[in-house]
Amino acid sequence: MACKCHECGGYYKIDILVSDNIWEKIKPSGVGREAGLLCPVCIAHKICTVIQDEIGYAAFRLERADNQEKGE
Ligand SMILES: [Zn+2]
Repeated sequence: MACKCHECGGYYKIDILVSDNIWEKIKPSGVGREAGLLCPVCIAHKICTVIQDEIGYAAFRLERADNQEKGE
């Protein structure tokens, strides 16, 4: 199963979870609160443009959302 990015239209299978406060700043235009889908590339691009413009520099840590290992 793949999701379709609301920004670039590409399909992606890796879901990156973003905190609600960041999501509200980078989500696709025209969607409601906590709504919309963005691929990892568009999330990174929007964080680089929106967040960086706002605070200058930010660091984020990626962690798996579950304890499953690939193939289990
Ligand atoms: Zn995208």
